Amino acid sequence: MENKKILVTGAGGFIGHHLIKYLKKKKFWVRGVDIKFPEYEQTLADEFELLDLRRWANCLQAVRGVNQVYNLAANMGGIGFIESHKAEIVHDNILINMHMLEAARLNKIDKFLYTSSACVYPGYKQNSPDIAPLKEEDAYPADAEDGYGWEKLYTERACRHYYEDYKLKTYCVRFHNIYGPLGTYDGGREKSPAAICRKIAFAKTKDEVEVWGDGNQTRSYCYIDDCVEGIFRLIESEYHEPLNLGTDKMVTINHLVDIVANIANKRISKRYDLGKPQGVRGRNSDNTKLRQVLKWEPCVSLEDGLKLTYHWILSQIEKNR
Ligand code: NAD
Repeated sequence: MENKKILVTGAGGFIGHHLIKYLKKKKFWVRGVDIKFPEYEQTLADEFELLDLRRWANCLQAVRGVNQVYNLAANMGGIGFIESHKAEIVHDNILINMHMLEAARLNKIDKFLYTSSACVYPGYKQNSPDIAPLKEEDAYPADAEDGYGWEKLYTERACRHYYEDYKLKTYCVRFHNIYGPLGTYDGGREKSPAAICRKIAFAKTKDEVEVWGDGNQTRSYCYIDDCVEGIFRLIESEYHEPLNLGTDKMVTINHLVDIVANIANKRISKRYDLGKPQGVRGRNSDNTKLRQVLKWEPCVSLEDGLKLTYHWILSQIEKNR
């Protein structure tokens, strides 16, 4: 076993659970912390503690005896959730992140990784479907997603201050739409790929599927295996500025629906609901810096990743029938 001891917060969530599987394959000792256990599979963590990280004493307890922290815990969800729970999101996440940073400093943690988001990028750079890919420096002058995005941007700054003033080695990754099996696919917190897979899994051939907005909004999507590989490479680097982690293959939501319908082998038509939140009009990741820093970039194609995701969601639905 590697002698490093690692804490993953948000270990009951989608990315945290996959990250622990990845770190265990590499033979690290891992403690997972969350307010809930993973929903769909048992954790592989050596220890798993149920702790509410909005509370200072719980953060101190979480970091005891570890060398590295991957701080993923957050109150979050898809666009429907983050646009309607802004006060709750900023309250919970600022408490979690400031307490975790300070607990890491006091416990002389070697490395602290924070999971930020493409939601930090300004609205004025994302107002058409064919926008230029977003470079890390585009985050300023700031006009982040209201609520969730501002909280992420503020915590990025806090990580920078802790690095500069206290020499705590902080790392900030900006995820662009991570998806894959074992992610939330119903209940209101799911993201677009999971929601579309679920709707198509329930549909019969020739059915209509509801699409939020006009379907011409664009995004890029990154498969979960690439995501955990990327954050591990980042914490192993000496790069302490925020870094994009996503693919630079931009697709419309309409195209995403067509890919999933193909995978499901169903003929689907779309019904547009213009009243539903759709977020920014266009978003893509510029991976120039990612390639330089990590000497690597995400490689799972959208078609392959969606195939695995769709079949996992379908199996869950069939199991619950
Ligand atoms: P997730 O919701 O599946 O996981 C987050 C976990 O944090 C959940 O299990 C939740 O129970 C836990 N949590 C919430 N409040 C807590 C508290 N008070 N104490 C302890 N644990 C608490 O989300 P995810 O997709 O795995 O995201 C992980 C991180 O990556 C988050 O910080 C998120 O903001 C960030 N991120 C994710 C994406 C994405 O596409 N999935 C995109 C950008 C950023």
